[in-house]
Amino acid sequence: MTEPTLRVPCPDCGGTADRDVSGQVDWSGALRWCAETHCAACGFTTYAMDDVLSAAERAAVAAQEGWFALLLTPADSADPRVRSAVRHALDLTFAQVVAMFRECPRRPVTGLRVELDLVVARIRRAAPRATPTVEPLP
Ligand SMILES: [Zn+2]
Repeated sequence: MTEPTLRVPCPDCGGTADRDVSGQVDWSGALRWCAETHCAACGFTTYAMDDVLSAAERAAVAAQEGWFALLLTPADSADPRVRSAVRHALDLTFAQVVAMFRECPRRPVTGLRVELDLVVARIRRAAPRATPTVEPLP
């Protein structure tokens, strides 16, 4: 799989550099974004790790991989442990989670694949019998 590539200004020569971003879940269970920037013109290369993704980077990942939805069974979506796991994984308030599940109980969350994989991992840890799945959005 090729990684999503953004075109960014090169900090060294002012030309155009390529930036590849990829997401991964680290040892602590947190989502980290790794960005490698490389300028073909001058050879400038840098790596950066961050736990947030810029809007442009997120859009580039989505353009490459598409958007995904978290799917829950009716029983799982009614489980307070599942709701609590979603709340903590996405850093939401209680009211926000209640509103999300009220609007779309079986498909409360959409996002990037790696973001939803993280939510699924948190749900499975909180409620081992839950069966959350991630599916691509059309
Ligand atoms: Zn350069």
